[in-house]
Amino acid sequence: AKPIVAIVGRPNVGKSTIFNRIVGERVAIVEDKPGITRDRIFANAEWLDKQFSVIDTGGIEISEDEITQSIKAQAELAIEEADVIIFMVDVKSGITPSDSEVANLLFRSKKPVVLAVNKVDNLERENEIYEFYSLGFGDPFPISGSHGLGIGDLLDKVVDSF
Ligand code: GDP
Ligand code: MG
Repeated sequence: AKPIVAIVGRPNVGKSTIFNRIVGERVAIVEDKPGITRDRIFANAEWLDKQFSVIDTGGIEISEDEITQSIKAQAELAIEEADVIIFMVDVKSGITPSDSEVANLLFRSKKPVVLAVNKVDNLERENEIYEFYSLGFGDPFPISGSHGLGIGDLLDKVVDSF
């Protein structure tokens, strides 16, 4: 079976945007409203001749107080299913309590985790990725879903873990 890569993180960090970039077509729904992705979406992808499946872990129309529960449940599912996890955070908001909760769940898994810092839309913002070392997953990979930056380097690291 193909390796499974799960994209995990709190709502609105840009998971669906990156999922669409990796898959190469518009499959997931991207909205300004946090947590809009309606379901977990699977798709096949390929990088450097390596085939894998990607899961976009969304949220089902969750309200503010349900957010924590929902991302926890999805992170747990992804941990079970995935061979590699892309843990996505957002440089614009920095580390939030929800990020720390997801980090704690991922920590306890034995699965490889690659930390992606999204919304690094320009070089100035690259200086802001250092705080994310404190999450404990090694080098943060700066990416921009909107501009399509850094995704190749991120995928190099991901397929290295297969
Ligand atoms: P998800 O909830 O984690 O799936 O996040 P989405 O992919 O739906 O994106 C949430 C919002 O962030 C949308 O308004 C996106 O357009 C925006 N977004 C996604 N990637 C980037 C990025 O690299 N830079 C900026 N500035 N915004 C982004
Ligand atoms: Mg989404």
